[in-house]
Amino acid sequence: MPLPMNIFDKKDFPILARQVHGNPLAYLDNASTTQKPREVIDAVVRFYEWSNANTYRGVHTLGEEATSLYEQARAQIAAYIGCKPNELVFTSGTTESINMVAHAWALNHLKEGDEIVLSVLEHHANLLPWQHVAQKTGAHLRFIPLNEQLELDMHAAQELIGTRTKFVAITHASNAIGTHVDIGRIAVMARAVGARILVDAAQTVPRMGVDLRTMDVDFLAFSGHKMCGPTGIGGLFIRESVHRELEPFMLGGGMVFSVQQEVASFMPMPQLLEAGTPPIAQAVGLAVAARYIEQHTTASELQRLEAGLCRRFIEGIETFNNDAIRIITPTAEAIERGHMVAFEVRGIHAHDVAAYLDRQGIAVRAGNHCAQPLAVYLGISSFVRVSFYGYSDETEVDRLVAALHAFLKA
Ligand code: PMP
Repeated sequence: MPLPMNIFDKKDFPILARQVHGNPLAYLDNASTTQKPREVIDAVVRFYEWSNANTYRGVHTLGEEATSLYEQARAQIAAYIGCKPNELVFTSGTTESINMVAHAWALNHLKEGDEIVLSVLEHHANLLPWQHVAQKTGAHLRFIPLNEQLELDMHAAQELIGTRTKFVAITHASNAIGTHVDIGRIAVMARAVGARILVDAAQTVPRMGVDLRTMDVDFLAFSGHKMCGPTGIGGLFIRESVHRELEPFMLGGGMVFSVQQEVASFMPMPQLLEAGTPPIAQAVGLAVAARYIEQHTTASELQRLEAGLCRRFIEGIETFNNDAIRIITPTAEAIERGHMVAFEVRGIHAHDVAAYLDRQGIAVRAGNHCAQPLAVYLGISSFVRVSFYGYSDETEVDRLVAALHAFLKA
């Protein structure tokens, strides 16, 4: 089957018309954040120009409009991930979502001797909150290792998830090396011992890779800016059956039912976890972003494009006929369903590679990708990552391959 052309029209994204150092921009840092279509930018501007007011508080027209737009956005994003609107809390992004679970649930439910199971793939956002919870409660962290193909070692997972396990927090797909995790299998293991399970879906929600009707998990976190939406907005799914176990993370206006000087009673979910003025314009923008994605593609088409671009890049590197570049991402998986390729250029610091590519107008990420323990585990201090999205195309991959070729010859 031929590779689909880029699915999102580059013309929809004003920034993609930019030149960088005199070259057309090839934006290949999409696992970090994606660009925004004109529709999203316009929706945010339109909100401020026409409907801006605070939610819930106003009895005036603008207040009603703002509230209704915010709640419509919630309903739409909930439908996008397959949950009920009251199961979706708007947060500032994956990091806040995971910290919210740590504070609103874990600190009140874990105790000394309990075990929290993570994987060695985790982004710092899905590691540091659990280090904090472990330090505060006396719970222990356990880490599922990788097998030789750099996939999650499911045999080790089966051994690690045991009667002491009270919580499992795991990424759906690694932002650093691209490994996907079979959450269904992990969820079966967690359920068998009665543990709660959280999924960091920062890399998969943007690709329509999450349907909570078929995923047996308790918490799921994602970011809007990685799916064409504005910065400062993301989501936290909390399954309804867990709502009675929650305590508010932040307290203040917007989440209270009635307040006396000494005590207060709180609103139910999702308001319980949304103290203060919410990110209204951002939620409106995110809803338009989700609609844009749904109108222009399907999960399988987007995957075919991105994985096809991974394949083209990997095959391009193979033609160099030397081993200067070492691909870190599991290649079989990348060419089947990946959206990124991580690699190192032997003997050259990743930042030097990225700086060279930037001068050609090619934006890639270099470093340890907010996963320092993973880099140590892999024995690599820093590496380069190229990552694709619906507006990426073969020309950009070919420019990247040619630039790397020139770099190695220089
Ligand atoms: N987890 C993963 C897997 C990610 O890719 C990211 C963003 N790189 C995060 C968590 C943190 O997301 P944010 O910075 O949007 O809170």
